[in-house]
Amino acid sequence: MPGKEAGGKGSGLERLERELERIFASLGHGMYVIDNERTIRLWNRAAESILGWTEEDVLGKDCRDFLGHQDDDGVQICDDTCPLKATMDGSQTIFAGTVWANKKSGELVPVNVSCAPLFDDDGNLAGAVEIFSDVTVEKEIDRVKSTLCSVVAHELRTPLTSMRGYLELVLGGDAGELNEEQRGFLQVVEESAKRLTELVNDFLDLERFESGRIEMHWENLDLEVLVDGAIRIFIPAAEKKSLKIITEFESVPQVLGDRSRIQQVITNLVSNAIKYTKIGEVRIRTRSENDKVLLEVRDTGVGIPEDELGRVGERFFRASTASSTGARGSGLGLAIAGEIIKRHEGELRIVSSLGKGSRFSVLLPKAIERTRISSPGEGKDG
Ligand code: ADP
Repeated sequence: MPGKEAGGKGSGLERLERELERIFASLGHGMYVIDNERTIRLWNRAAESILGWTEEDVLGKDCRDFLGHQDDDGVQICDDTCPLKATMDGSQTIFAGTVWANKKSGELVPVNVSCAPLFDDDGNLAGAVEIFSDVTVEKEIDRVKSTLCSVVAHELRTPLTSMRGYLELVLGGDAGELNEEQRGFLQVVEESAKRLTELVNDFLDLERFESGRIEMHWENLDLEVLVDGAIRIFIPAAEKKSLKIITEFESVPQVLGDRSRIQQVITNLVSNAIKYTKIGEVRIRTRSENDKVLLEVRDTGVGIPEDELGRVGERFFRASTASSTGARGSGLGLAIAGEIIKRHEGELRIVSSLGKGSRFSVLLPKAIERTRISSPGEGKDG
């Protein structure tokens, strides 16, 4: 973004800045604009009230000098993984989710951020804008929810196992003949108990991932083979909705991964694509992208509203569009997929357009690249 004193190309951008300033000054969301050097050029009132830094403190300064964005593990993300920088590098909107930012008082505050690149009148990249909101309350609710669910999940597992065991015996005729009505009722109970067990298992699985207590079994994998396997399971569901499943496989190198976990990710993405699509198609493709292999699942479904995208992948989060499909879900599948991808040193990208469809891309390091950075010994987690 050219300096204020620059004329020509700069004046168009200054007008844009002033317009943005007027629009966003009254917003409840914090907002700031940086130029290509990451110098702050615009800082709204909500940003000041969330973080305490005034316009005077920040204008003309490098955002890295005081915002100190970090992730949930306290790792600084101001350099390589800065969402604003990524936005500018890719020249596309990136939703970074929740990060922690430094308040002027010295405390850290969790903020949900969305970033987008800004272009000048000639279409050249001129900087980026970040919109953020304080999610302290949501984080706390999340913590309480997590503790509560964890206790409940552990307590539910044993009685559920016993219920399902006895149901199986009764349905198998071990307790005498059942009439059709009794069998029908018990099958509904069995189906509900199964769903509850899946939910409890998903929750405990996620908990184990988050606390690093999941054992991974590393091997070289062909994504194409795994995708083919996953698709086979979903053909009946897709046919029922007259959805086409299309694959576009480029010949890609193997990835180093845990077979059942990568299968779980693929299954979740394909299952979601079918669940949240009423008409059209689900397209799955693989291709190489630098030192990574990309697996993309794209659908023509209901999409996800832009202001909810940043929360997709949070535990129990379901987008408002999910209910329009009548599809059941717990909002845990993508949270688990996200953890699995993280353990593979991969990345999950989500792009969605409301009413038009979504694209979920998983980037996984090529097997050869991965063994170079972590020895096979390190690859075996305990
Ligand atoms: P669920 O069990 O609810 O499907 P997930 O964790 O797999 O849970 O997904 C979380 C939420 O993300 C879903 O409830 C849905 O709102 C949204 N979502 C996931 N995939 C898609 C998709 N392909 N299209 C639209 N929305 C999706």
